[in-house]
Amino acid sequence: GPPSLFNVMAFWLVALVTTAFSSLNERELRRRRLDLEALTTMSHELEHAAAPDEVARIVLDRVGDAFGLRRGYVLLCREGRDPHALAYRGPGPMQETPRAVDAVVRTAFETRQVQLVHQLEEDTNPMTTAILLFARNVIVAPLFAEGEPVGALILERGEQARRVERRVVSMIDQFATHGALALRNALLLEQVRRLAATDALTGLANRRTLEEMLEREISRATRQRDEVTLVMIDLDHFKSLNDTHGHQVGDEVLRHVGRRLSEQCRDFDTPARYGGEEFAVVLPRCSREEAAEVADRMRTSLASGAPVHLTASAGVATFPTQARSSDELIRAADHALYRAKGAGRDRTSSWTRASGMGHLATARSYG
Ligand code: GH3
Ligand code: MG
Ligand code: MG
Repeated sequence: GPPSLFNVMAFWLVALVTTAFSSLNERELRRRRLDLEALTTMSHELEHAAAPDEVARIVLDRVGDAFGLRRGYVLLCREGRDPHALAYRGPGPMQETPRAVDAVVRTAFETRQVQLVHQLEEDTNPMTTAILLFARNVIVAPLFAEGEPVGALILERGEQARRVERRVVSMIDQFATHGALALRNALLLEQVRRLAATDALTGLANRRTLEEMLEREISRATRQRDEVTLVMIDLDHFKSLNDTHGHQVGDEVLRHVGRRLSEQCRDFDTPARYGGEEFAVVLPRCSREEAAEVADRMRTSLASGAPVHLTASAGVATFPTQARSSDELIRAADHALYRAKGAGRDRTSSWTRASGMGHLATARSYG
């Protein structure tokens, strides 16, 4: 017989629901594709990022763009150290990071899961409320790499979103996984670089770092018609100090000298351990007129508080009037040091033209 009214209605109902679902599926699929594209873009960008703050910036920007986030931070959280903001995104100024992580971040670390908080309470979450003032819909993703927490992604969805969708949470989790690995690698690279640049005993710059720094400062001084002073300091009779008090005390003296030199330096000076018991300091913007006095102040500061009686000799030279390149400046300061040793030690000598450069071949054996 003819179709009943009920059948017609049922047909249209099924058709309507199918259409609605397929368009919903299409939208959903499109969204997923965009999410994955954003994740791929981030991964590509991360390949070119070497520094931890670069990594943090990329993660925050990609996550922020993909999910329309209002504000966000990448915090570096390492064992025994204060949390530290590596990157911030959002309107308004970045807030100072308080000195301890709070409950929501700790829970994210303990559960290793993304945390959602509609509204943060200041007494339970003093850190997160301090960096995200008046935040709504906060997402905290732990950054884990090789089973270790390295930091946290702290994001704000803002007022307009009534709730954060499952899709968003699971994608943020994936962004965090990729980001954490890149951050861990960047931190390791930074550590390796730092170790390669410093002397293990004193923590000062090593010889190679000093020479690079000197090269850089001389280029800068050349452009800006400025001066650079180099001080070389060698401890007096260090061999007999070792013989008398032992190598351990010798090492302790070297560490002490490292600390004293660092104290004496301005922010932009570079103190270095140049060799065994020989130190060097690059002094940008230190003129030839000031040089000898500054060098002598550094040299004489070494005795105070030393574990045993200690004297040192120093040589000083200034670019560009006493040397025209970094190699020449090193040789000039070294030669001045040689003369300080020859004149009886425990003193500072400046390079002088009169002394000539003829002895430079033998300058490294003080005799
Ligand atoms: P001068 O006044 O002419 O500089 O005499 P000196 O004995 O200091 O000179 P020399 O260069 O002959 O001796 C340097 C000594 O420094 C020899 C070496 O055993 C010692 N030395 C070098 N590196 C270290 C170190 O890392 N630790 C210790 N304890 N001693 C070191
Ligand atoms: Mg010596
Ligand atoms: Mg020496």
